[in-house]
Amino acid sequence: MLLKNKTALVTGASKGIGRAIAEKYAENGADLILFARSIEELNNLKFELESKFGNTVYVYEVDVTNKEDLAVAFTDILQNKKKFFEILVNNAGIMRDSMLNTVKMDLIEENFKTNTFSSILISQYALKAFLRLRKGSIINISSIIGTNGNSGQSIYSASKSAILGFSKSLSKELAALNIRVNVVAPGFIKTNLTEEYQEKYNNTNNPFIGMRRMGEPEDVANVALFLASDLSSYVTGQVVGVDGGMII
Ligand code: NAP
Repeated sequence: MLLKNKTALVTGASKGIGRAIAEKYAENGADLILFARSIEELNNLKFELESKFGNTVYVYEVDVTNKEDLAVAFTDILQNKKKFFEILVNNAGIMRDSMLNTVKMDLIEENFKTNTFSSILISQYALKAFLRLRKGSIINISSIIGTNGNSGQSIYSASKSAILGFSKSLSKELAALNIRVNVVAPGFIKTNLTEEYQEKYNNTNNPFIGMRRMGEPEDVANVALFLASDLSSYVTGQVVGVDGGMII
């Protein structure tokens, strides 16, 4: 029970990696605050986790790109002591690809609003809870595309690289306040996000992944568990790749 008596906020928890992180945290004793646009999926997950683990799960229908949604959710969260959280996982994200010569401003804005600006704004709100509790751990989900780059993904990559600079700087800003900030950089993980590529890069035959398999959402959740728990209490400003030895 690595997260007993702790509360974690996970964005993009309705599916994929975020859902796996929510499950892993619940299994380890955490109460949860979950954000996503698909409120029905969140309500189902809440029911599942509370029945199985007996923890408390609060769900919020939030579009992380919508400042109003965030203001409403955090006004509610921050006025209720029971909802004070000490772990934040900025996971909600999209991957919209395009070559630079044809890319439209809409796609650029969509990537940055969802992947980058929301993480910054939500971290700012989280700080209010962390300062009251005098502790905190922020886990930002970047990508191997953010650390290494990839042809056709310059915009997505830039939105995820920005997370690295943000996290490293913030880790320095907040270390003395007992607040840690780390990054997880997943490789090629089996979720909706990578659905269209999964057939091409099938599990056993992918020469670009040393371990010759795609990652499972749980592979990422295990690292997010370590970074949320006291096992990593002296770890901050780090980027942990979860990519099975991927070459890119
Ligand atoms: P996914 O299965 O498509 O899940 C994305 C999650 O983000 C969903 O829960 C979705 O919820 C939420 N989300 C997206 N836009 C949102 C918005 N505007 N407001 C609120 N929630 C939003 O993708 P995933 O693979 O789990 O991706 C999770 C994170 O890992 C992303 O940041 C992604 O960039 C990163 N990542 C993934 C991989 C991979 O191979 N899968 C690799 C590297 C990094 P709703 O649709 O219900 O709102």
